[in-house]
Amino acid sequence: MSELILLRHREIPNLDQLDVYQKHDGFSAFKKAVTGMQPLDVLNEVKASGLRGRGGAGFPTGIKWSFIPNNLWPHYVVANADESEPGTFKDREILESNPYQFLEGLMLASFAVQANDAYVYFRGEYWQMAQKLDACIESLEKAGLLGEKLFDGSYSLRLHTHMGAGAYICGEETALLESIEGKLGQPRLRPPFPATFGLFGKPTVINNVETLANIPPIIDRGSGWYRSIGTEKSPGPKIFSLSGCVNKPGNYELPLGTTFRELIFTHGGGVPEGHTIKAFMSAGASSVIVPADDKALDTPMDYESTQNDLNAPLGSASVIIVDDSVNIAWLVNKTVQFFKHESCGKCTPCREGTYWMSHLTRRIATGKADADDINLLDTVAKQMQGKCLCALGEFSTMAVTSGVQKFRSDFEQLTNR
Ligand code: SF4
Repeated sequence: MSELILLRHREIPNLDQLDVYQKHDGFSAFKKAVTGMQPLDVLNEVKASGLRGRGGAGFPTGIKWSFIPNNLWPHYVVANADESEPGTFKDREILESNPYQFLEGLMLASFAVQANDAYVYFRGEYWQMAQKLDACIESLEKAGLLGEKLFDGSYSLRLHTHMGAGAYICGEETALLESIEGKLGQPRLRPPFPATFGLFGKPTVINNVETLANIPPIIDRGSGWYRSIGTEKSPGPKIFSLSGCVNKPGNYELPLGTTFRELIFTHGGGVPEGHTIKAFMSAGASSVIVPADDKALDTPMDYESTQNDLNAPLGSASVIIVDDSVNIAWLVNKTVQFFKHESCGKCTPCREGTYWMSHLTRRIATGKADADDINLLDTVAKQMQGKCLCALGEFSTMAVTSGVQKFRSDFEQLTNR
């Protein structure tokens, strides 16, 4: 992709300054929407663009907005900046270096669903970004872009920031809402869904930071332009966070549908010299472990292809590379220890399952297990699947079952010593 859309700050110095952002068409989309469009026009343009949520689920954004009922008020919009998936660091770059594009997207989403108050929820470790956003919000209020009766019309909008305390589970949208309300950050039973019973029990849209950063260019340049990027079912640009055993880790903005091979070898410079690529995870620690054969490497990174061809979610597109120096049982242990630590404990299958899996993977990784423990680990993981209250429990089993199935010899290598 020749033109950067989400990571424009790499080409435009000081884009995190309001005057610079405005000089580069900043807030023209918001002004155009509030002064010349109906909220439904904004919603329909986003729907037509085919934009899908970049937080992991890939649900169509415009359709999500259309679930907000018009007979229940007030409405809220919440930006999910609780970026905590191991291997994911794309929202951080947007927040640090292109914050106004994200804020403009949040403001457009708020206008589209007629919310007068919107929230940004940060993971606890992003306190510096929260401070920066507070300053940005203040500058927008001073510039008359936030506040009461904007552009001398009837629409008013206030933005608020809220800090989490560093819990991965608060990236789950209902746990996030509980946390903003001052309660323990644990997922809610669904239904009801946030579209009807969200923040403070009112209709709420929750969107990821990167999703919202896509909105201003869609309103500025139109859904037709947006659809010219990416694939038919997964349009638009995507930021891929590349990490692990790779020469040039980092964020890469590429059209959805780019192959894993192009990301890893053309942009990421391949694996360190003297090694060969062994596997990758497509969606951070929550993903299955995919053997890096030719078919996998040539798979397009879009929401359909990775799921259908590799049985792996694209998720937030955090691609972790594993080379032949890594024993997969070691990697599986790392992911399981993470999920055991982050399990909120609300439901038994996840609370107990991650506890027992963590014992087994540690035993295997430290060479203290026997061969039967591999089957026991696999059984515990499979017993958890489909029984957990939220996705975290399911995610914790992904690396385990795929690792044992595809790389059993790595586990056996450690248990046979
Ligand atoms: Fe909490 Fe895990 Fe149950 Fe989710 S699956 S509610 S994180 S215990």
